[in-house]
Amino acid sequence: MEDKIIAPKPTDPKGPWDVIIIGSGPSGLTAAIYTTRGAASTLILGGEVWGGQLMLTTTVDNFPGFPEGIQGPDLMENMRKQAERFGAKFMGVNVTSIDLIKKPFEISAGGVTYLARSIIIATGAQITWLDASGVKELIGKGVSSCAPCDAPFFRGRKVAVVGGGDSAMEEALVLTKYASEVTIIHRRDEFRASAVMQEKVKTNPKIKILWNSEVSEARGAGKLESLVIRNNKTGEMSEIPFDGLFVAIGHKPASDVFAGQVEVDEKGYIKPVDWHCGTNVKGVFIAGDVMDKDFKQAIVSAGMGCIAGMEALKYLGEEK
Ligand code: NAP
Repeated sequence: MEDKIIAPKPTDPKGPWDVIIIGSGPSGLTAAIYTTRGAASTLILGGEVWGGQLMLTTTVDNFPGFPEGIQGPDLMENMRKQAERFGAKFMGVNVTSIDLIKKPFEISAGGVTYLARSIIIATGAQITWLDASGVKELIGKGVSSCAPCDAPFFRGRKVAVVGGGDSAMEEALVLTKYASEVTIIHRRDEFRASAVMQEKVKTNPKIKILWNSEVSEARGAGKLESLVIRNNKTGEMSEIPFDGLFVAIGHKPASDVFAGQVEVDEKGYIKPVDWHCGTNVKGVFIAGDVMDKDFKQAIVSAGMGCIAGMEALKYLGEEK
């Protein structure tokens, strides 16, 4: 059946667009599905690396509608196709600056300035790396933040995971499929991860846990060879051989480019003015991990994308 709703596009590709969505994870793409179906011209500035964190995931088992689970990249591909089917224009460029004083708003990306009547910020959050010596130098040389991407490189090897949240549990469990031994290094004597994830980790015979422990140095010539670990209760230092280190200690919201333009909290999360995804700037909406410090779930992001999209349509209607 032919689609009845295809959102228009401005004659000039620079705009003004009814909605420019910055980011292309579950929140940004869901927002685009709603704004295009509302017949609003919609440009997605999706980033040079598009799709958000689900592109780095294997099976997603908790997104409703897929009883057998779905691969993260397949889910994102589907969402993008769905948004494009209704007329969203997708561009794989990074936003470099934004001006929310001017009307229409101005967004610079890939050397071009685009004009927007409304904006949805859905830029997500980025990995936080350990601040220990040697870690950053060995990224991609044994140090990783993505077990689903890199675990196969560690078949039969000894790996460590740092962190005590759900991400660390997930990383460790993925790694057990390949590594000979997985050691979780956690700075306290209890995890903050959900009970079900903790249970899976604690009952997995391949996983060892080092409590009250911190990585103080990653060592290796050209590739990771060992970690220097400090017990923060006893002060004891030990050097343990590892082939891999997976860092899972949280995320930083990708909000730097909006600094001084919209209100952010002390951690850089953009502050919503209400649960309708509005910001302190009328016509600028937010959705997903760039505002969500608690849940960081694809389904929550998608829900927020829906709200932001519908609110953008309402705003455009009121402005006319
Ligand atoms: P998180 O819950 O904030 O946990 C971060 C962990 O890293 C904490 O255990 C923290 O230790 C530790 N940490 C932080 N900074 C550190 C440092 N400098 N050195 C050593 N350790 C450090 O982050 P997350 O695990 O990424 O999860 C974020 C959110 O996403 C959570 O709400 C989580 O439930 C959710 N999530 C859900 C799923 C799922 O449901 N499948 C999967 C992944 C994530 P402390 O505990 O001592 O603070």
